[in-house]
Amino acid sequence: MSITPKKSLGQHFLTDGNIVRKIAGAVHRVPHGRVVEIGPGTGAVTRELIQQHPDLEVIEIDPRAIEVLKREFPTLKIHHQDVLETQWEGFGSESNASISVVGNLPYYITSPILFSVLDRRELFHEAIFMMQKEVADRLIAPPGSKTYGILSVQTQLLCRPEYLFTVSRHVFNPKPNVESAVVKLNFDQPPLDCELNALKTVVRTAFNQRRKTLSNALKPILKKQIPDDEHREKIIRDFDLSRRAEVLAPAEFVGLTRALFS
Ligand code: SAM
Repeated sequence: MSITPKKSLGQHFLTDGNIVRKIAGAVHRVPHGRVVEIGPGTGAVTRELIQQHPDLEVIEIDPRAIEVLKREFPTLKIHHQDVLETQWEGFGSESNASISVVGNLPYYITSPILFSVLDRRELFHEAIFMMQKEVADRLIAPPGSKTYGILSVQTQLLCRPEYLFTVSRHVFNPKPNVESAVVKLNFDQPPLDCELNALKTVVRTAFNQRRKTLSNALKPILKKQIPDDEHREKIIRDFDLSRRAEVLAPAEFVGLTRALFS
């Protein structure tokens, strides 16, 4: 059963059973945990997942896809909704960190989906996502590399991203314009040692002017948060803010945020 793919919904259906099996095989749910698929479409990944996880639940926005899913998988629990409006706590069990979320993501909303999961990370055990390779590269980029940026720092502090494998454009219908990759986010990190919103402000401000030294890029925050000149100079020296954002390790951003906002 097939439907005409809709570009506006980021529909690129997987046609390669081997890739599907590798995605499903990357799921390692916790006992009593839930497995949730984002964007099942016409069920390429669902078919494999449901064999291992008969209690699978899926979130899909396209009513045409839902009709197909209902016919093919009569027992499947389908949530007809926008994934960005999903209340993830509805899927968690009483013990936290219980959701394994999987999806060949609609690429037009990769970042918002990533952030919606990262923001509720205490509910998740793992996320296995297919995304544009370029975004996957940013998630795992080390300090000093060209692709290291806001997404890298925040992701690496909130979870442990693992690059699983690259996926060619030729295994989709229709073919996307870009290469893809499957990434696993492991939620086994210790809690963040600073306030998340303050961290986001520091990271965003630092990278918004990534060509400037950190002492220049962060000047407004430094002046506002540390009015005392001597104290401010000490922070600039201690954290060597003559460097640029792109060389600062994620943990250094936490230290800096604590120094600025404690
Ligand atoms: N899993 C299928 C596969 O691999 O063949 C389809 C993947 S396709 C890249 C993305 C899927 O996400 C489509 O089925 C699309 O309808 C669905 N989708 C798009 N936007 C969505 C949204 N905001 N909420 C939930 N699902 C969405």
